[in-house]
Amino acid sequence: MSHNNYTFVVEHLDPELGPWSALEYKTIAQESRQAGCHFILSSLPQSLLDSRDLRDLVTLGAEARSESIETYFSSKKDKICLLDPAAKQEMHPADAAEFDVFVFGGILGDDPPRDRTSELRKKGFSGRRLGPVQMTTDTAVRVTRMVILDQISLDKIPYVDFPELKVDEHEFTEMPFRYVKDNYGKPVMPEGMVELIKADADKAFDDLEF
Ligand code: SAM
Repeated sequence: MSHNNYTFVVEHLDPELGPWSALEYKTIAQESRQAGCHFILSSLPQSLLDSRDLRDLVTLGAEARSESIETYFSSKKDKICLLDPAAKQEMHPADAAEFDVFVFGGILGDDPPRDRTSELRKKGFSGRRLGPVQMTTDTAVRVTRMVILDQISLDKIPYVDFPELKVDEHEFTEMPFRYVKDNYGKPVMPEGMVELIKADADKAFDDLEF
C-alpha cells in the first residue's frame, strides 16, 4: 500500500462513543487505510481507550490518543486545517500544498446544527468549509480526501442532500445531512448505518406507544 503525507484527525468531542459514531469512525479508518492516509482519533477518555470498540479501530489502522491535537501537533499548527462549517473560505484542491493535517469534529450531526465545531475553532487553526450544508463526519472526511488527494473541486463532487430512508412499509425518515452520491445515485453511508437508523426509528416509534 502506498502512503501519502496527509493525516486526518478526528477530535472526539463526546463523553461516550455511540453506535453511530463507532460506525462512522470504522469507515473513516478503513477508507484512510485504503487511501494510504494516517488516521488519528484523539481526545479520547481513558474509558474509551480501554474499550473493545477502540481496539477494533486500532486493528483497522487508526491511531488512538488521549491528548488533543493542539498538544501532540503543537509544532505544526500552521499546517493544520480545521474543517469548519462556519469558515469563510471554501476548501480548494490548492489546499493540498498548504496543509498536511485535516481535523474534524467527532460529533454526531444535529438538526438544527449546534455549532459544536466551535470548540475546535477556539484553538485557532486555519478553517475551511466544505460548502453550506452540514455533512456527517465520515462524509466530511471523504469529501476532504476527494478534494486534497483526487484534486476534485467541491462543486464537481456529486452529492445527495437530505435523503429519505424507508424505515418500514409506511414510514420514511429524512437524514438532515449532505452525502456523497454513489454510482447508483444513493448516498454513501457506513456499512450497517441504514440498519441502525431503521432500528432506532423502530425504537422511537415503540417508545411513543402506550
Ligand atoms: N452540527 C455540527 C456542529 O455542531 O458543528 C456539525 C458537526 S458535523 C456532523 C461533524 C464534523 O464534520 C464537523 O465538526 C466538521 O469538522 C465536519 N463538517 C461537516 N460538515 C461540514 C461542512 N459543510 N464544512 C466543513 N466541515 C464540515
